[in-house]
Amino acid sequence: MLMRNNIIKELKSALTPQNVLTEIEERYAYAQDALNLPEIKKLPDVVVFVENIEQVQAVVRLANKYKIPIICRGAGTNVVGACTVEHGGIILNFSKMNKILEISSENMTAKVQPGVVVGELQRQVEALGLYYPPDPSNLAVSTIGGSIAQSSGGARTFKYGSTKDYVIDLLVVTASGELLRTGSSTIKNATGYNLNTLFVGSEGTLGIVVEATLKLIPKPQLARVIMAYFDTVKASVDAVNAVIEQQIFPVTIDFMDKNAIQTVERFYPTGLLCDKESALIIEVDGFESAVEFQQKTIVSILETCGASSIQYSKTEDDYHRIWQARRSSMGACAKLRPNVTTDDVIVPRKNLEKLVMGIRAICKKYRLEVCMVGHVGDGSVHPQIPINYNDKDEYRRYKLAKNEIYELTARLDGILSGEHGIGAAKREYISKVVNSQALDYMRMIKKVFDPNNILNPYKIF
Ligand SMILES: Cc1cc2nc3c(=O)[nH]c(=O)nc-3n(C[C@H](O)[C@H](O)[C@H](O)COP(=O)(O)OP(=O)(O)OC[C@H]3O[C@@H](n4cnc5c(N)ncnc54)[C@H](O)[C@@H]3O)c2cc1C
Repeated sequence: MLMRNNIIKELKSALTPQNVLTEIEERYAYAQDALNLPEIKKLPDVVVFVENIEQVQAVVRLANKYKIPIICRGAGTNVVGACTVEHGGIILNFSKMNKILEISSENMTAKVQPGVVVGELQRQVEALGLYYPPDPSNLAVSTIGGSIAQSSGGARTFKYGSTKDYVIDLLVVTASGELLRTGSSTIKNATGYNLNTLFVGSEGTLGIVVEATLKLIPKPQLARVIMAYFDTVKASVDAVNAVIEQQIFPVTIDFMDKNAIQTVERFYPTGLLCDKESALIIEVDGFESAVEFQQKTIVSILETCGASSIQYSKTEDDYHRIWQARRSSMGACAKLRPNVTTDDVIVPRKNLEKLVMGIRAICKKYRLEVCMVGHVGDGSVHPQIPINYNDKDEYRRYKLAKNEIYELTARLDGILSGEHGIGAAKREYISKVVNSQALDYMRMIKKVFDPNNILNPYKIF
C-alpha cells in the first residue's frame, strides 16, 4: 500500500467519510476501464467521490504534498487504459458532480459539471430546440469530463466536429490545487494562447476539469438515415468519396463490414442484410426540403456506385433501429470471445481503402477475427478484434497485428487516434506518428503544468 493511513485520515476529514473507499473489493472495481487489460498491475490505494470544486482542490493539494498520483474517472468507458492505475494512487470519481448548471438559449451555451452524462445533456438541450452534436457511441453512459479529456468524437464528427469544437471555457484544478480558467463565455476568443484546446484531449494529465462551458447549435429540424449495402468493400469506399466529391455534406458517413453486420445481427437482430460485404450508414439533416434533396442526390450516387440495396428511415423507429445496429457493434463483437479490443486509427480519406484492406490482410495473417466499423467519412476505422486474453498465443498474435496496423497507418500518413486517445495502451507506439521534437514539447508542457508528475502519470508518452 503506497498510501499511509494518516493520508486516508486526511482524505476522510477533507471529504465525507463515506465518499472515501478503501476496501480491496472497492479498489478492485476501479482498477480497470473499458480497455479491459488481461492483467491488473496495481490497484488504486483509495477511491474518492468528490461533490464540489473545493473538495477536488483539497484532494489535489494532499496528493501534491505527498506526491501521490491522481487518476480522474468519469464512467470508465475509455478504451485505451486512460483510467488505469500503474503505480497506485487516488481515483477521483466524478459521478457525484453531475449537474447541468445552466443552459442559455440566448448565448447558446451550456455550463456543466464534469460528471454529466453526454446523452443526458443532449436530451436536455434538445428539449429547448438546441443541439450538442458530439456523440460517442456510448453516449448513454460516458461523461462530459471523460469526453473532454479524450477529445471524443463520434459519428457526427464529419459534419459537426468533435468535442474540441464545442469547448469554449473550462474551470480546471491545477496540480497545485489552484483554479485556472482556460477560456471565456464568448463564442469567439482570440485573446492569448488557446488553452481550451490544450486541455481537450490531455487525458487528465495537465489538470482536472471541474466545470465546462460548451457551445450549442440550433437543433436540425429533421434527420434521416440511409443504409446502403455493397457487394465489395472497395465499392463502398469508392461511394464515400463519390458522395463527398458531389459537395453534399452529410452528418455522418459510417461503415460496417460483413463480419460486423453478421455479428450484430446474430446477437442484436434488427434485420440487417447478412449476405452483403459492407454497408454505409449515411445521415443527413436540416430543413425538410434540404433533407429530401440530399437524400435523393445521395441515393442516386450510391446507385451509380453499385449499391445492391438501399434503405432509409421513414419513421423515428427506423432511424433508431439503424443507429442501434451500428452502436451495438462493439457489444456484439464482445460476445464472440471472452474479451474484445477496439482501435481507432485514422488516415487521410484518400488512403481509406488501403487502410481497410490492409487491416483485413494483417488480421488474416495473424489468424484473428475482425469486425470493422468506422466513421469513414473522416477516414477513421475501428477494427474490433474479439480475443481470449488467456490464450497466450492468441494474445501474442494480437500484439503483432496491432503493431503492424500502426505501421500501416503511419505509412498511409495517418495517426493512432482520431477520438479514443492514447492512454496507456498506445503510448509505446506514439513515436511512430508524432515526431520527437513534438513529443519533447509535449513533455515540457506536462512539466510546466504538473512538475511532480501526479496527474494521471504514465499516460500518452
Ligand atoms: C462501446 C463503446 C463505444 C465507444 N464509442 C466511441 C465513439 O464513437 N467515439 C469516441 O470518441 N469514443 C468512443 N468510446 C470511448 C469513450 O466513449 C470515450 O473515451 C468517453 O468519452 C470516455 O468517457 P468516460 O466518462 O467513460 O471517461 P473515463 O473513461 O472515465 O475517462 C477518460 C479519461 O478522462 C479523464 N477524465 C475523466 N474525467 C476527468 C475530469 N473531470 N478532468 C480531467 N480528466 C478527466 C480520465 O482520467 C481518463 O484519462 C467508446 C467506448 C465504448 C466502451
